[in-house]
Amino acid sequence: RLYNQVQDLKGSIRVYCRVRPFLPRQNNHISTVDHIEEGTITINTPAKHGKGRRSFNFNKVFGPSATQEEVFSDTQPLIRSVLDGYNVCIFAYGQTGSGKTYTMSGPKDLTEENQGVNYRALGDLFLLAEQRRDTFYYDVSVQMIEIYNEQVRDLLVTDGINKRYPLYNIRVLTGLNVPEASLVHVTSTYDVIDLMNLGQRNRAVGATALNDRSSRSHSCLTVHVQGRDLTAGNILRGCMHLVDLAGSERVDKSEVTGDRLKEAQHINKSLSALGDVISSLAQKNVHIPYRNSKLTQLLQDSLGGQAKTLMFVHISPEPDAIGETISTLKFAERVA
Ligand code: ADP
Ligand code: MG
Repeated sequence: RLYNQVQDLKGSIRVYCRVRPFLPRQNNHISTVDHIEEGTITINTPAKHGKGRRSFNFNKVFGPSATQEEVFSDTQPLIRSVLDGYNVCIFAYGQTGSGKTYTMSGPKDLTEENQGVNYRALGDLFLLAEQRRDTFYYDVSVQMIEIYNEQVRDLLVTDGINKRYPLYNIRVLTGLNVPEASLVHVTSTYDVIDLMNLGQRNRAVGATALNDRSSRSHSCLTVHVQGRDLTAGNILRGCMHLVDLAGSERVDKSEVTGDRLKEAQHINKSLSALGDVISSLAQKNVHIPYRNSKLTQLLQDSLGGQAKTLMFVHISPEPDAIGETISTLKFAERVA
């Protein structure tokens, strides 16, 4: 009990691993995953990577048959803490195609059953706020940004620069230090879904046919919550960041040049900066290197201190992906 309270005050970092199933059209069904046991995943490594088996430990491992509901279940308590005034960060990490967007948002043919963490988190947030309506007045607003090549872009602009959403006037924001990005007041999950769709459309605008930009930029949906205690009168502020990270795959520097190389270097730099911050926090280091990337600078108030961090690390089951699978698991092991 006391231990839990201390943990609570210190914030927490949890790392979950999720293995994507084979996709319907794939006929090669030999997975690189040997077996999964609660928090441990064991993979078969081919000769090139020192033939044998290797195990990695996490707070939990979700196998290919895990449902969206199961994956969300441990996230639920975090939603409550946002309403209690804490900051929360939820990240999806992994190579392109490993299931990051599936976990955070869901597949393209979205149903109630397969909707991802974003929808479920918001649904719970509004439900809990409603349950507390006799004691708290909650005010919710969202921002959505993209970080591409260390540049921040507001994703909630409606039509170029002139038709912006009115800047919602809230006195103090916590957690995302981008005061210039549109902050939109919302009163239901539907409002947020509309905004997420707008953000997705804006994200696609920058992409050319060949380059799917969404795999090379980080997107961050931030939900700011301000709660006024109706009896005591004090105000609680918390926020939740839902971050779909850029693909973690390493590109072969001998094969790419120009813009593609620049993108790769920026992604590499920001993902390792994120790894450095989380592992320094996990080791309770005094100096936390927030300044090394845009992403960690922006999320500084929500990483460490009393904030709670959750990272979903994704791997693909195909033998082709083994190199990336190993580097993903090594990255995750460092932050877990
Ligand atoms: P990423 O965002 O990491 O690039 P996606 O989330 O787009 O990867 O997933 C790649 C493909 O695999 C998509 O077609 C997606 O619907 C499918 N997929 C990913 N994870 C799962 C899962 N757990 N169950 C079923 N299909 C999945
Ligand atoms: Mg994606």
